[in-house]
Amino acid sequence: MATVEWRSPASEMAVRQFEIAAERLHLDKNVSARLKRPDRALIVSVPTRMNDGHVHVFTGYRVQHNDVLGPFKGGIRYHPDVNLGEVSALAMWMTWKCALAGLPLGGAKGGVACDPSKISRKELQEMTRRYTAEIINFIGPEMDVPAPDMGTNEQVMAWVMDTYSQHKGYAVPGVVTGKPVDIGGTQGRREATGRGVVYTIIEAAKHLGIDLPGRTAAVQGFGNVGSVAAKELAGVGVKVIAVSDRTGGFYDAKGLPIERVIDYVGKTSKNSTLEGCPWGEPVSNADLLELKCDILIPAALGMQITGGNAGKLKCKVLAEGANGPTTLEADEVLKEKGIFVVPDILANAGGVIVSYFEWVQDLQNFFWTEEEINKRLRDILTRAFYEVLDMSRKEKVDMRLAALMIGVNRVARAMLWRGLYA
Ligand code: GLU
Repeated sequence: MATVEWRSPASEMAVRQFEIAAERLHLDKNVSARLKRPDRALIVSVPTRMNDGHVHVFTGYRVQHNDVLGPFKGGIRYHPDVNLGEVSALAMWMTWKCALAGLPLGGAKGGVACDPSKISRKELQEMTRRYTAEIINFIGPEMDVPAPDMGTNEQVMAWVMDTYSQHKGYAVPGVVTGKPVDIGGTQGRREATGRGVVYTIIEAAKHLGIDLPGRTAAVQGFGNVGSVAAKELAGVGVKVIAVSDRTGGFYDAKGLPIERVIDYVGKTSKNSTLEGCPWGEPVSNADLLELKCDILIPAALGMQITGGNAGKLKCKVLAEGANGPTTLEADEVLKEKGIFVVPDILANAGGVIVSYFEWVQDLQNFFWTEEEINKRLRDILTRAFYEVLDMSRKEKVDMRLAALMIGVNRVARAMLWRGLYA
């Protein structure tokens, strides 16, 4: 067997999920063999002059999984655990996510193994610009369009856009999404993922006959996805009883004052985390997942819900804000327990959907209002939710498998039409 350098626990999980969907769809064997692997995987060295004068060489990645439906699309992650296997898994999930949402885009992901909380703004900028320069021949509005992911934000996207534009000699806003509005970003992109998670929860609640006001939720991860999802849930009358981030979490059975917690993290907290939050009792990230609540949102790292803790979950709805938070073993347990799962490629698709709107607006130099953005986002997510629900009923499969089957099938059909370039 040839060495498959990009395989790792995360990519094993992504590939196995794909195989289950492919078997169920009786997918053409040749198409299936191709889709198990990325189109292309880049590993780059990112030398960066650190504040103390020495040059640190970070390792960066960009994995492009499939572009049969359109340009590659996917975020850039800055996190110490970033590696080729994880980025490959995330790239594959982007392919299914874009196809499920009906976007004319393929799947990619990038990242740099680093701890952004430990490097200065200047170092972060230099690292970002050098990483962009290293992958510059493989990105572009027609080829591959990066976006924010864990550890990156609109400032990082602005540096990517500027570096790319400097190399071209003119402004190219369409090379990345999730940019500041001032340089061609879109209204509503920052909130899109968290907002989308809540739109799918609203549809799940309707389907299950759950009246949301007064219900309880716990949210793991208080970044761009978790904090917005918590705020939007509070906005529809849900009591958010626990939130957490990498420093730990806080729990109050009566509900936390989410707007004030967000204010605390943004303005008062020393390190922009929940550390020292004055509301609620401390709770660990692991214990948060096992709290009794109606809605649980993992919105942090992958593989948090495993064969080890899935049996202890006490929620009714699990809405996956994170990518790949639930392992295959955990899926079996959740099915037995009757927990309704809104899978990642559906629940968190709001981010890439509004990224798609941003890219379209950049290509046309014509911008939409936030109302238009949110309405179109909600329409796409609601349609996708019911397509997945219908598929799960028709095929008698869980929501994750149904979502994967729709995404994989769309990509496979496109591949069969286009044929093999020989
Ligand atoms: N990083 C986000 C995701 O995992 C968004 C990707 C994008 O907007 O291209 O879906």
